[in-house]
Amino acid sequence: MLIDAHTHILSLADDTEFNTAYGREGSLCIYRSHGRLPAHRMPTEEEWEESGYGKAGFPITGPDASIAAHPGFDKMVILAVSPQFLDGKLIGTVDTDGITDVPGPAIPEKCNDYIAAIVRGNPDKFIGFGSVNPNYRGPKAAVEELDRSVRELGLSGVKLYPMYQDWSPADPILGFPIWEKAQELGIPVMIHQAGSTRIDARMEYARPALLDAIGRHFRDLRVIIAHCGIPWMDEALFMLTKHPNFYTEISYYIATATEEELLRFLIHAEQSFVPLEKIFFGTDYPGFLYDPVALMKKLRNVNAHADRVGCAPIPESKLDGIAGDNFARLLGMV
Ligand SMILES: [Zn+2]
Repeated sequence: MLIDAHTHILSLADDTEFNTAYGREGSLCIYRSHGRLPAHRMPTEEEWEESGYGKAGFPITGPDASIAAHPGFDKMVILAVSPQFLDGKLIGTVDTDGITDVPGPAIPEKCNDYIAAIVRGNPDKFIGFGSVNPNYRGPKAAVEELDRSVRELGLSGVKLYPMYQDWSPADPILGFPIWEKAQELGIPVMIHQAGSTRIDARMEYARPALLDAIGRHFRDLRVIIAHCGIPWMDEALFMLTKHPNFYTEISYYIATATEEELLRFLIHAEQSFVPLEKIFFGTDYPGFLYDPVALMKKLRNVNAHADRVGCAPIPESKLDGIAGDNFARLLGMV
């Protein structure tokens, strides 16, 4: 089974201008490193246009576009983004184009309703993870919304974004009620515990080691560290070694690594006592314009480099696991 464990859908804000500015901020480093924008000063509007990131931005990703970008995949995990303020504007997953059947104005408070509606429209293709922000209307409201998103909307897990929302995952007042509720609901929690190219994101709340308190206090809770904690990948791997119910998905990292580096990473993970069964393939599609097919090919090709690296090839069954079987097992689908 092929599963993309980390994708997004719809829009993050209700106006194009804001979306473009936000997207450009996160993409600046990538465009610069590709030589598409000047690195020594901020680009002019003309240079942005020439780079391919024009004022109009990119079209909103609907379910059809996501399915078309994932040929051969069985499932895509769509992750909601909970309401949060950025430069005074409330952002989060919104359906600005009326793609779903959720009534009323497009507002981020309905992020979980949008994700659930997309899953309802394509239940064979999409797995929905909701999202809550305890810093938006307080931890009690976040816990109630989490309960609703699972019991009423039928979502399969929750995605959390502490570093974007000014809270520490180890905060007993803001964080612990959410972990406790997720454990009670029996759902996995994916958490963006990794760096970010968004300039306001707080790196001090991003360390994977902050999850140690969660692993200690909520022993039955399944935690998925997004992006393998990049740039603290060893720290994330160690969390997986220490905590029996911790997992990771490798989006973002897999886009930056060569096939040989990816092979070395997988060997390193196993030698660090992280079973490859704890690792999931993910892309962060459509972020950074990653191509899910090319990234999956990268994973499937790692063994072509085994001779040069001087290691035994990784068994195909373990690569099948990373490609989707491991995630399917986590959700009890197989
Ligand atoms: Zn993401």
